[in-house]
Amino acid sequence: MTCSSFLGRFFPDERAATVEDVNYDKLVNLGIKAVIFDLDNTIAKWGDDSLAEEIIELFERLTSRGLKVGILSNSRRETIEDFIIDLPFPHLFNANKPSLKGFRSMLAELNVSPEEAAMIGDQLFTDVLGANRLDMYTIRVEPIDPEREYRFTKVNRIGEKVLLFLREVYRSLCRLK
Ligand SMILES: [Mg+2]
Repeated sequence: MTCSSFLGRFFPDERAATVEDVNYDKLVNLGIKAVIFDLDNTIAKWGDDSLAEEIIELFERLTSRGLKVGILSNSRRETIEDFIIDLPFPHLFNANKPSLKGFRSMLAELNVSPEEAAMIGDQLFTDVLGANRLDMYTIRVEPIDPEREYRFTKVNRIGEKVLLFLREVYRSLCRLK
């Protein structure tokens, strides 16, 4: 196992501040045919009951240029699902990321291979890890509202900080070899 692959599964192929800042032209040029979005803190604030108009417009722009769009969430909140269910974008809630099952279901629904799909999300331990395990392209965005998060997500954030620290230690050790 090389130095880069040891912790590499936890880290995204690229980072962006928000979903609006992602370079979708680049994704198309990489052969990406579908973009799968996390929900909480990626395209909605935690506790929101609907998606912002700007997000729906973004999804419409992406689909009008031939990209498929899906939503893959660990959420179980029925209020926002009731809103999303009326939109023309496939969604899967209670996905249990980083488990591969939900990713595979969404890829099947979008009819693309993992290599043809990009996952965009705010969490390394769920969105990025799960998608990397399938060799999807991964983009990590900053959480929209880090003050409002599910309790378990707050634990994950501490884990992310530990992981970043470990990576620095590991890189230093690799340089020493
Ligand atoms: Mg999230």
